[in-house]
Amino acid sequence: MDFIKTTGVLNEVLSERERQEKLHGVDPKHTPETWLMILGEEVGEVNKAALETRFGVEGASWEQYRHELVQVAAVAVAMIESFDRQYQAAVANEFLGIEAYP
Ligand SMILES: [Mg+2]
Repeated sequence: MDFIKTTGVLNEVLSERERQEKLHGVDPKHTPETWLMILGEEVGEVNKAALETRFGVEGASWEQYRHELVQVAAVAVAMIESFDRQYQAAVANEFLGIEAYP
């Protein structure tokens, strides 16, 4: 495994994660189902870029395909962060006797 390349890719994902956070806020508090719809939309954009590039649609490119993949990875990271925050809050609320999901 080439960790130098891995680090480079992860840095791109981090930059995209920061861009998305500026756009949508630090903690959008989406449910897992909403996150999955957002992720699915991003995966659809990867499919679109690949399909249009494969069939030579004007303006489509493998660079766009790669760019969309980075966006998918950044959304997945946001999903993990959101899950961790909500899980920790649920555990804390359970400890305090507060209903986790009112
Ligand atoms: Mg996208």
